[in-house]
Amino acid sequence: MLELYDIIVIGGGAAAASAVLTAKNRGKSVAVVMNGEETSSLYKAEMITNYPGLQPMSGRELAALFRRQIEERADDVIRGRALSVMPMDEVFGVAVGNDYVSGRALILAVGITRENLYPGEGEYLGRGVSYCATCDGMLYRGKTVAVIGGGKEAAEDADFLESIGCRVIRLRQNGKYEIRGAMKAELVVFRGEEIPVDGVFILKDTVSVTRLVPGLIYRDGGIVTERDMSTSVPGVFAAGDCTGKPYQLAKAAGEGNIAALSACAYLEAR
Ligand SMILES: Cc1cc2nc3c(=O)[nH]c(=O)nc-3n(C[C@H](O)[C@H](O)[C@H](O)COP(=O)(O)OP(=O)(O)OC[C@H]3O[C@@H](n4cnc5c(N)ncnc54)[C@H](O)[C@@H]3O)c2cc1C
Repeated sequence: MLELYDIIVIGGGAAAASAVLTAKNRGKSVAVVMNGEETSSLYKAEMITNYPGLQPMSGRELAALFRRQIEERADDVIRGRALSVMPMDEVFGVAVGNDYVSGRALILAVGITRENLYPGEGEYLGRGVSYCATCDGMLYRGKTVAVIGGGKEAAEDADFLESIGCRVIRLRQNGKYEIRGAMKAELVVFRGEEIPVDGVFILKDTVSVTRLVPGLIYRDGGIVTERDMSTSVPGVFAAGDCTGKPYQLAKAAGEGNIAALSACAYLEAR
């Protein structure tokens, strides 16, 4: 049987590290889902000079410190990209590649994720378009699916879909794909060629947070939260750059701390 954690934290930067440290100090079991550090904003920062208590250091160095703290304190660290969150009866299931982790509360600390959708991607999401072979692959058994993406993860998901009996068209080239259809996705169009499909799996490097969790409310590109970092979805809290400006480390760490305390209070009230 899969372990059910008190809290799942998605992220690996300042907000996530702060949330993990606080939740662990409050005695909660915590699993963290974190993508490669090169996908965080901090990794790109040349020098950090305004984080209290630390001498100036490069973004990479500070990112490594946050990750080490997460690895030392979290009960479980799943490396990879969270693909989708499924809320079910006060439990949140998070799909990560072909893995799956579940918890009773969720803290989103995913930084800034930019919308960069193919034409038709948003329109047909859940109607033939999916980001998760593990979640939706079985729906396409015996059918034809396109897997768009050039990375290792896309290749693994294409292999997985073949193993469960899908006919897989691998679309590895970079470029502008378009998804068309009527009630559901029926065609992938690439460089003028129309490819008939029953489903499309899109595996980019990042998943916009607007696609990750159903039911969240956004304003000016950030997840709307209360002062206690709770979101419009009960049991889901958010912290850091993903809640909006200012994009600053001290704000991210502070919000991670508040989100963890609020998640603990939410769990203790149940
Ligand atoms: C060039 C540059 C310079 C900067 N300089 C400064 C500065 O001097 N001072 C300052 O205070 N701030 C600075 N910032 C801003 C600072 O880096 C951010 O405010 C801070 O990193 C936000 O922390 P965070 O934890 O919210 O997000 P991030 O640090 O972006 O971390 C988010 C994490 O979530 C992970 N993630 C995202 N989606 C998923 C998913 N689906 N599944 C699993 N993991 C996921 C990412 O891999 C990443 O590790 C700078 C930013 C840039 C780009």
